[in-house]
Amino acid sequence: MQEPTSIPPVPKILAPRVLDRYAILDTEEEETFDRLARLASQITQMPIALVSLQDGDRQWFKAHIGLKARETPIEHSFCIHAVQQQDVFVVSDARADPRFAANPLVTGEPGIRFYAGAPLRMTDGSSIGTLCVIDSVPRTLHERERSILRDLAAIAAREIELTHAAITDPLTGAFNRRTMMMMVEKEIARFDRTKNPFTLAAFDLDHFKRVNDTYGHEAGDRVLSRFVKLAGEHLRQQDLLFRIGGEEFVMVLPETNEVAAEIALDRFRKQLEQTPIQTNAGPIYVTVSIGIAEATPQDTTVKTIGGRADEALYNAKHQGRNRIARFFDKTAQ
Ligand code: GH3
Ligand code: MG
Ligand code: MG
Repeated sequence: MQEPTSIPPVPKILAPRVLDRYAILDTEEEETFDRLARLASQITQMPIALVSLQDGDRQWFKAHIGLKARETPIEHSFCIHAVQQQDVFVVSDARADPRFAANPLVTGEPGIRFYAGAPLRMTDGSSIGTLCVIDSVPRTLHERERSILRDLAAIAAREIELTHAAITDPLTGAFNRRTMMMMVEKEIARFDRTKNPFTLAAFDLDHFKRVNDTYGHEAGDRVLSRFVKLAGEHLRQQDLLFRIGGEEFVMVLPETNEVAAEIALDRFRKQLEQTPIQTNAGPIYVTVSIGIAEATPQDTTVKTIGGRADEALYNAKHQGRNRIARFFDKTAQ
């Protein structure tokens, strides 16, 4: 049993929204993670094994063997303790441990008694979750099992990083063009199901060539990544930003009509205009032109809605830049 003096406060998660960077929360189940959890369960002979991910306020399972739930409240999370550790975190008997004895996951379903979790450590040193095994009886973890858990967690972490590298742009961390095609198609399918329209916005930084010419390419690069960071701070959690070319970006605003999108994005545009971007070459101010288009039932591919957003962007540029324009349907007149 743990000494009461060793009770740590419920740790605050390392970096809120760190998971967002990996774009994995609420994604579908994947065989790789299921396999790792299944192996963990079989090797340790425990009924439950999870690949569990935590962000600021949620705990969510990428894989869940032996447990129906895909999400449990973060305040009851064992993994939130494990994710803070350098090594495998073990609770031999939760009922005898003052940190967990009153936990509803211990007193009620699924009746946790034993817990062991290895942190999913990323190459930047952060941990975003755990690979854990759970039993309904008190146990000990053998060194061999501990070492296997470590290895399985390292494989899961690597898999998350590889997937992340395939879907993002390395300079800015925004999603890449290929991901945009995929995500917009998903949004189109959702719109088809729910009839709740989304808006697509095309962004192009104004006179960006001048930024490079005046301050150098490195400063230009810095502006691009700060632009993405600023947009991220401004976005709602569900909005997605893609870098589709040099200084060209697309944003998808789910469940948002173009009136609401225009208000939100124009606020961002003004904010950008007023924000000095600190670079080696001194502070730089940039502006952006934005074209937006709302999905219609006729949009069956990225091409049509993307084309309308591009046309609106073209108009924003021609009307003088540093502005937002909606697609204007001339044929509807
Ligand atoms: P406009 O207002 O009409 O959009 O003018 P612009 O100068 O932004 O447009 P143009 O398409 O002529 O130039 C885009 C510039 O973006 C040219 C290129 O040097 C720069 N660029 C593209 N990719 C990168 C990048 O990864 N890093 C940096 N630093 N610059 C880039
Ligand atoms: Mg351009
Ligand atoms: Mg440009």
